[in-house]
Amino acid sequence: MAKILAVLYPDPVGGYPPDYARDAIPSITGYPGGQTTPTPRAIDFTPGRLLGCVSGELGLRRFLEDRGDTYVVTSDKEGPGSTLDHELPDADVVISQPFWPAYLTPERIAAAPRLKLAITAGIGSDHVDLPSAIGHGMTVAEVTYSNSISVSEHAVMQILTLVHDYMPAHEWVTAKKGWNIADSVSRSYDIEGMDIGVLGSGRIGKAVLRRLKPFDVRLHYHDVHRLPEEVEEELGLTWHPDARSLASAVDVLSIHTPLHPQTMNLFDDDMIGAMKRGSYIVNTARALIVDRDAVVRALDSGQLAGYAGDVWYPQPPPSDHPWRTMPHEAMTPHVSGSTLSAQARYAAGTREILECWFDGRPIRPEYLIVDGGGLAGTGARSYTVAG
Ligand code: NAD
Repeated sequence: MAKILAVLYPDPVGGYPPDYARDAIPSITGYPGGQTTPTPRAIDFTPGRLLGCVSGELGLRRFLEDRGDTYVVTSDKEGPGSTLDHELPDADVVISQPFWPAYLTPERIAAAPRLKLAITAGIGSDHVDLPSAIGHGMTVAEVTYSNSISVSEHAVMQILTLVHDYMPAHEWVTAKKGWNIADSVSRSYDIEGMDIGVLGSGRIGKAVLRRLKPFDVRLHYHDVHRLPEEVEEELGLTWHPDARSLASAVDVLSIHTPLHPQTMNLFDDDMIGAMKRGSYIVNTARALIVDRDAVVRALDSGQLAGYAGDVWYPQPPPSDHPWRTMPHEAMTPHVSGSTLSAQARYAAGTREILECWFDGRPIRPEYLIVDGGGLAGTGARSYTVAG
């Protein structure tokens, strides 16, 4: 029997379950391009419920305990003596979500001789040291597409929030009890007519481009894999051969690449300096793709007119993280991929991956990041490993 260790975010401060705003979520069975939503044999949860926190348990407890497996769920993941470190040495499977990542460092992987499978309940497996996972003979899998549309909606929302300068206007009329129209509009623009680009036109990046098209903007992108000509034509896209050419051409840049050696720290002082003065960056991909302090400097100087996103490093960030207090931001905690709608899909996908694993059936290639001693499936297309 296996031991499965899930590291999930803490319950709501108001207790579990929360008061749900709605009774149901739409039923979605397929993604753009034809991939189906997860197909586990069964689920033991109600779609639309809070599943990603400790009491939600990703809806897996009955399934795992009926099989005779041990299922340990904790949110305690950092510092010496954490439950994660305590439970890891005899764990077979570790599950975590990027919103509250179990950082599987080389040291932790070395301390887990039985660990064979790391599942990302969501998308983005950079919290797992992939070279160590490869060396350890592990499989790393994520629930590809489960929250891509959720993130694309959040990115479009944050683009509009920044350019229209929504946050200060909201604060004037609520916290400050004012009606300060002039103050509220002095940095407020429309996106209509702007040049907007995405870095990384995979599942999320492409969905952002599609959603922006009706706003009558000029769309640009860069990806190492160029989109088919008919998609470029349909969306009126300008392709750029590298990130710098894209960054210098646009008013707004939305980042949608994975974090890997080629994208680490890509947006430093130099790259941000190559953008037009008053550009905006939205980053819902990974925080380490941008230089934390270069972003703050660019907002202070006016080189950037705004920065928004939901990804931070580390997660959770310390209370004195400078992005909590920098000007012209519209930050959220890492939530875009954990809507209740997305949770239903990635909880079901996690179960699908576990069922395949236990049955000895292949995991869908689109879910694979590392397998068989190297990058595999989506991992082989979207990630690199150093060395
Ligand atoms: P995807 O694999 O479908 O697309 C990634 C794209 O990035 C691919 O087309 C790939 O070719 C491109 N790419 C990789 N390296 C590149 C480089 N150096 N330069 C240019 N392009 C490059 O992945 P996706 O589903 O679109 O997700 C993208 C990333 O978004 C994930 O890896 C994850 O880090 C992040 N994400 C965040 C959240 C959230 O909640 N904020 C949720 C899901 C995913």
